[in-house]
Amino acid sequence: MRNSASQLTDHAAREHAQRALAGARPRSFWTSQAGAPEPAEALAGAQRADLVVVGGGFSGLWTALLARERDPSADVILVEASTAGWAASGRNGGFCSASLTHGIGNGLSRFPDEMPRLEQLGAQNLAEIGATVAAHGIDCDFAMTGELAVATAPWQLDGLTEEAEAARALGHEVTELDAAGVRAELDSPAFLGGSWSHDTCAMVDPARLARGLRQACLDAGVRIYEHSPVRAMHADGAGITLTMPTGRVEAGRVVLATGAYPALLRRIRSYFVPVYDYVLVTQTLSAAELASVGWRHRQGAADSGNQFHYFRLTADNRILWGGYDAVYFAGGTVGRGHDQRPQTFHRLAEHFFATFPQLEDVTFEYAWGGAIDTCSRFFAFYGTAFGGRLAYACGHTGLGVGASRFGANVVLDLLSGVSTERTELELVRSRPVPFPPEPARTAVVQLTRASLARADRDAGRRNLWLRTLDRLGLGFDS
Ligand SMILES: Cc1cc2nc3c(=O)[nH]c(=O)nc-3n(C[C@H](O)[C@H](O)[C@H](O)COP(=O)(O)OP(=O)(O)OC[C@H]3O[C@@H](n4cnc5c(N)ncnc54)[C@H](O)[C@@H]3O)c2cc1C
Repeated sequence: MRNSASQLTDHAAREHAQRALAGARPRSFWTSQAGAPEPAEALAGAQRADLVVVGGGFSGLWTALLARERDPSADVILVEASTAGWAASGRNGGFCSASLTHGIGNGLSRFPDEMPRLEQLGAQNLAEIGATVAAHGIDCDFAMTGELAVATAPWQLDGLTEEAEAARALGHEVTELDAAGVRAELDSPAFLGGSWSHDTCAMVDPARLARGLRQACLDAGVRIYEHSPVRAMHADGAGITLTMPTGRVEAGRVVLATGAYPALLRRIRSYFVPVYDYVLVTQTLSAAELASVGWRHRQGAADSGNQFHYFRLTADNRILWGGYDAVYFAGGTVGRGHDQRPQTFHRLAEHFFATFPQLEDVTFEYAWGGAIDTCSRFFAFYGTAFGGRLAYACGHTGLGVGASRFGANVVLDLLSGVSTERTELELVRSRPVPFPPEPARTAVVQLTRASLARADRDAGRRNLWLRTLDRLGLGFDS
């Protein structure tokens, strides 16, 4: 039985978290910053275009921009249900990773032979994102800081060493750190060791990246319509007609880039589930508070539990602290009502103060959540429909800030009908295992979540359910 002293401690931690959250604004820090563009008008009447991109997150914006770069004569329309970048793309952690496989371990377990090439393609994709940011003068604090993975329990240390060795074998620059070394980078009494991957991740302000890409699309001649939700889609002669409340558009080709939202193509709905992930952002740290954690190299950081936290500095020296709870709402519902989840915010705040006790006086100024398109293999799957006139990319699973640009190139390759190196990849040709229909889907997701939490409490030991999923190459992540 737990003694009353630890219950008191729990109670004090809860009260502390509650006080620190009292003034938090219920919205994304990133999209709350000044400089949001005036929304574009809704699509009206009957229109025509060579290519219509549905969805104005990173996937859709990159697709539209790259389509115009490939063929400046193509008439490209992008339609967005709300405003470009309002959804996952404007509310994420801003870790812009080179990985196309949601991490090296996951990629090696699925495509060992293809991984060297996938890592090169991912590095090239990240470099090209940086080059586009520079070429278009997009002011989004893009910085190649690398990523710091930390162990917060002894069982996580071996995994870090294995990942570091695998990363080095694939040509990456990795520094392994003992407890003192990791604390010299980022100081927490909870950190037992770590590894700093120098060349695989950039930090970015995601909302300003999305705004910049939106402007680059407009400059390149893409016609953008916002507040234009596509409600229906049907084949129409040689094209596809998309219907919105205020108008319709006849498209020669269509790309679906609708993220975690209900897919217009029913056949892909069983391949992903919307999972909500939550984030806090603190007030700006004082110079003394920042010095108390160090963080001179400003890496993106994450711990190594199955339920993990990710954390980073913003350009104005706030700490963004997110992750841990990955919430599937029964029935797979999405909606703005899920964007606030007080019990998760409290848990995140308690974990923050346990990790950084030296920041006990810091408060949180923003708290929000957003939907992630999670699939059972954790990275995107691709396909075509309507005789090759429609292509889609879906299932980025919490690591789509960088990979969405690679996905945009894949869908444009698929629409071209020409086989390319990308379309021949096993990563592109294969699919994740679908989720079962409801109500089994909810049961399976909740059982997996509970098992992952138990493994974290039990020194990483995976129960029979998780071992079975491992054998089948299935999982659940955010
Ligand atoms: C809290 C959180 C933290 C994350 N952290 C990271 C991170 O640090 N690094 C990382 O790589 N990834 C992260 N991700 C994931 C990342 O944000 C996404 O993978 C990425 O933004 C993918 O963008 P997208 O364009 O596919 O989807 P979205 O940005 O969700 O865009 C989809 C768009 O489609 C529109 N749409 C949907 N249906 C229709 C329709 N019928 N008609 C018209 N428009 C429609 C929506 O309105 C939306 O704007 C995080 C996600 C969340 C929620």
